[in-house]
Amino acid sequence: MRRSTLLLLSLGLSASAFAQTKPTTTPDPIITKMVEDISEKNLRDDIDKLVSFGTRHTLSDTKSKKRGIGAARNWVEDEFKKYSKASGGRLKVEQDTFTIKPDGRRINRPVVMANVMATLPGTDPTDKRVFIVSGHIDSRVTDVMNATADAPGANDDGSGTVAVMELARVMSKQQFPATIIFVAVQGEEQGLYGSTHLAKRAKKEGWNLVAMLNNDIMGSSTGHDPEIKDDKRLRVFSEGVPATETPDEARVRRTLSSENDSPSRQLARYTRVACQQYVPGHEVVLEYRPDRFLRGGDHTPFNQQGFSAVRFSEMNEDFRHQHQDLRTEKGEEYGDYAKFMDFPYLRKNTGVNLATLAALALAPAAPENVGVLTANLTNRTELKWDAPKAGEKPAGYYVLMRETSAPEWQQKFFVTDTKADLPHSKDNYIFGVVSVDAEGHESLAVLPKPVR
Ligand SMILES: [Zn+2]
Repeated sequence: MRRSTLLLLSLGLSASAFAQTKPTTTPDPIITKMVEDISEKNLRDDIDKLVSFGTRHTLSDTKSKKRGIGAARNWVEDEFKKYSKASGGRLKVEQDTFTIKPDGRRINRPVVMANVMATLPGTDPTDKRVFIVSGHIDSRVTDVMNATADAPGANDDGSGTVAVMELARVMSKQQFPATIIFVAVQGEEQGLYGSTHLAKRAKKEGWNLVAMLNNDIMGSSTGHDPEIKDDKRLRVFSEGVPATETPDEARVRRTLSSENDSPSRQLARYTRVACQQYVPGHEVVLEYRPDRFLRGGDHTPFNQQGFSAVRFSEMNEDFRHQHQDLRTEKGEEYGDYAKFMDFPYLRKNTGVNLATLAALALAPAAPENVGVLTANLTNRTELKWDAPKAGEKPAGYYVLMRETSAPEWQQKFFVTDTKADLPHSKDNYIFGVVSVDAEGHESLAVLPKPVR
């Protein structure tokens, strides 16, 4: 959460409330090194390999070794296994299979699907936090039921899939206290089946899933109609009102107008700061809506299960190269080919994912039971919270603050106590609290709930 424009202030508290040493505010060299390790060549080669399977349609061949979704899944699994070997076997690789019955829409026969997963278990047994990063392996052409025509799916969503693979390769060489799952999900184009399966599994098995990053269409920097070239910005979509909001929560949200402060929105803000810190010259654009206009993606089922999840997509899309039969029409070429992609841009976008995941997985867990005291009418703000129960003990906490009309945090205050009393009115500001360790790794921000 270190922005050049974000003021870092100290509170006028007693000396005992200050740490002798404040958290570092310079970038973590380990994260910087990992971002540098992301290989443009690997991303390019992996896209070419994915495209070589002809089609990766969910209803395509699973027997062939060369063509179809089965061969593609097996290849991703084999690549994950190579990275696992390089990591001393720490990366656990599996195909998580499940059967989907005909749904009267985009599934016309029972289909066995599989998410290809590589799990890097956390090194701290008391730290149960899980982070997921995904892309979807399946592809399609104009007719969503056409399982035989060539559907290269280079950008949609070869881009997300190879980003996940490269993240697994680079990050599995490092140790993180929390668990990170790298996954190529299947069945997105037929109805978000793979991500729905994984989100429900996470819910059913009680995973402490802190954040899910969905990468879908994030490797081309040129939009069409109008023509726009933008290789310096990446969009992140996040829900405002949580999909699982209860009537009680809705009442509080309306009272405080906190529709811009859902946990997923805090995650989105976090990605923007991680980008500023670790991918210089690149920018995350916060899109204050769950997805593109009237559309959804693999983060949606996670939101529906109550998890924080966001979507990364390129700044401007070219719809001639998505969901299209391969053809030339009036001199224009249609089809999702690698030649329309921008690999330096994909590399930077992969770096944003890495910086976000690494910073979060290295940080202490977020503070718990964060509350803002409302017993007295004052022009101050009193906050209190509990230290996270498990994992690394925070070096302290940042209280984040912004005006109610400001889209992003404007000021931060460091405290070592689990409470803060600020000479700024809760009537005029929004607050958040994050845990931070000595190296400056920060948790996601937690919005305080009113307490008496
Ligand atoms: Zn897609």
